[in-house]
Amino acid sequence: MARIVATVGFCVALSGLVLAACQGDEPPAGDDDAVWRVQRLAMVERQIAARGVADPAVLDAMRRVPRHLFVPEPHRERAYGDHPLPIGEGQTISQPYIVALMSELLRAGPASRVLEIGTGSGYQAAVLAELCREVYSIEIVPALGRRADGLLKRLGYDNISVRIGDGYRGWPEAAPFDGIIVTAAPGHVPRPLLEQLAPGGRLVIPVGERSQWLQVYTKRIDRKTRQAVFDIEDIIPVRFVPMTGEARNDP
Ligand code: SAH
Repeated sequence: MARIVATVGFCVALSGLVLAACQGDEPPAGDDDAVWRVQRLAMVERQIAARGVADPAVLDAMRRVPRHLFVPEPHRERAYGDHPLPIGEGQTISQPYIVALMSELLRAGPASRVLEIGTGSGYQAAVLAELCREVYSIEIVPALGRRADGLLKRLGYDNISVRIGDGYRGWPEAAPFDGIIVTAAPGHVPRPLLEQLAPGGRLVIPVGERSQWLQVYTKRIDRKTRQAVFDIEDIIPVRFVPMTGEARNDP
């Protein structure tokens, strides 16, 4: 009798476990989403955390955003690989590590309002939207801007505004920003972007013609002169697509 009771008890416990497993957020094993998710978690551990990105909010955002949906066919299969990929119109989605590193360097939090120049696929904007209150993003190629905007809306990102145009002059009506991230490389830092930073705000930007450095400009107000001054840090050498539009002109 004791044995039957124990067995019944075990079965109840087991069915409880199975039920709990089925009620989780995860689709059943073998489902496409679950396969992508395994790749995504491996990407975060091996390419991002292993290289020193440590901000838990950034790592979580990278674990959540479905990068494969931002990579058009025929490259989708390689969406979680350790490299940039073509997104059409001669442009690329950045390597996952670079997206994570730039997001960490921005030091944006849940109250932050940030600006991105170079929407591209919309992936970096989605990662920022997981971290910040509001994201403004500008894309110069209309077809890319429209596609990214549509996808971000379908995925339910209602805190991202996408505008089509030249990002060189920023988004003055929405300024000042707590952070600005530029994902195409100008030869010089656009002055309007520095002006649109809030005091304490950070501009993360690749600067240079053929070879570029990822730089961070932090704005502060000098106590004596009351003028804005910028602390500049060089982070790592990088390769981005060039910033087009007004950035091509002399400063
Ligand atoms: N952040 C993107 C990366 C896109 S690559 C992503 O996550 O997918 C850089 C993008 O910057 C390209 O789409 C390019 O068209 C855009 N770009 C280049 N010059 C620009 C400019 N002056 N203003 C706005 N976007 C620009």
